[in-house]
Amino acid sequence: MTIVTRFAPSPTGFLHIGGARTALFNWLFAKHTGGTFLLRIEDTDRARSTQAAVDAILAGLQWLGLDWDGDAISQFERRERHAQVAHELVDKGMAYRCFASQDELEVMRTEQKEKGLPLRYDGRWRDRSPSEAPAGVEPVIRLKAPTEGETVIDDAVQGRVTVANAQLDDMVLLRSDGTPTYMLSVVVDDHDMGVTHVIRGDDHLTNAFRQTQLYRACGWDVPVFAHIPLIHGPDGAKLSKRHGAQGVEEYRDMGYLPDALRNYLLRLGWSHGDDEIISTEQAIAWFELSGIGRSPSRLDFTKLDNLNGHY
Ligand code: GLU
Repeated sequence: MTIVTRFAPSPTGFLHIGGARTALFNWLFAKHTGGTFLLRIEDTDRARSTQAAVDAILAGLQWLGLDWDGDAISQFERRERHAQVAHELVDKGMAYRCFASQDELEVMRTEQKEKGLPLRYDGRWRDRSPSEAPAGVEPVIRLKAPTEGETVIDDAVQGRVTVANAQLDDMVLLRSDGTPTYMLSVVVDDHDMGVTHVIRGDDHLTNAFRQTQLYRACGWDVPVFAHIPLIHGPDGAKLSKRHGAQGVEEYRDMGYLPDALRNYLLRLGWSHGDDEIISTEQAIAWFELSGIGRSPSRLDFTKLDNLNGHY
């Protein structure tokens, strides 16, 4: 089996060092296994995506030497394919049109709140026919998700994680304006691109449950998931502006060498003995997903400074 990995940034800003590390791990795993590393620009949020951000991300990856195979893929341009999959699921009885209006859903949520129940769509249109639809409501398409049993993920970093299906409601696949949701787009794209390993930040771990349900409904193989802990600041808090530079281009402009930053990002959350400086060839030869740590990594800029002096 050829390994296919991908980096799937949303072009809403510069290339974040956390994103750069995710890209690096995907790139290294593909190189290590003789596989393919793909790039997908997740530009479906039209209000927040910009061409300047796309350019900054591509430039940042190139500066770091993380070359991708083939052309970068635009997720937005694939929206018709995403919608087609949602309609196919309806035809197969795996998804359905839900005509509940926003007002009606608001009433449902208020009732759930009053009863102290979790706020969840209650499946009220699962078994109703569109002929019962009220006039003037454009439907959304929802997945008919399993209501019993569990969804299990054997994550290559986090280990086995499980959720009771009763905790997940019927997710929206296509909005009432016909646009696909993030969940649908990601699964269809990863499937169509032949992605075998989804290596990304662990802020997406909970999405993997719904995505797994969607793969199953489509009858597609579920990829291996590897959710990497996020990078934290030296104080242990989630990385933010106050910890210093976050954009790859900022490091470039400060005079850091790409090899030093890449080496530093590699050592953040991945270890190989005591080696401080790891050449690209060594990194490719040694990189295994099992070497990724489970706890958040802490930034230590002095290490980056030390490395910069060695290239
Ligand atoms: N576009 C998402 C992000 O930038 C990543 C989605 C994914 O890797 O599945 O956080």
